[in-house]
Amino acid sequence: MIDDKLVRRIVKCPKCLSKASYFSGKIERYRKLLPSQDGRVVCLNCGFNKEHHFTSKDYYYAFQVKDRKLYARGLDSLKTILNHFKSDKHYSSDPECDFPKEFYVHKRLIIHKIEKILIEED
Ligand SMILES: [Zn+2]
Repeated sequence: MIDDKLVRRIVKCPKCLSKASYFSGKIERYRKLLPSQDGRVVCLNCGFNKEHHFTSKDYYYAFQVKDRKLYARGLDSLKTILNHFKSDKHYSSDPECDFPKEFYVHKRLIIHKIEKILIEED
């Protein structure tokens, strides 16, 4: 099953490192429908507009949680993740809220970092 609706992720532009958009379709992996790693970067700052193979390094919203990294596709995802950690739940059916155990140990740090980003972006 292929969903032809494009997914938008916020990335760092490969050319100027500004906030840019990454558009890709979805593919089925591990029995889940996930955004494809092949898509296109569109940067409004420098005009970059090219096919790009996505890796986790491209995420614009990313921060270190001890020896791991937390990534978010965009501001909406950050808000979803924030609510998830504030809710005290350890399980979510949302693939974006599927986190390793260590993240729950450091959830105060995560909540603090996300709240800081949201304030800065406001
Ligand atoms: Zn750019």
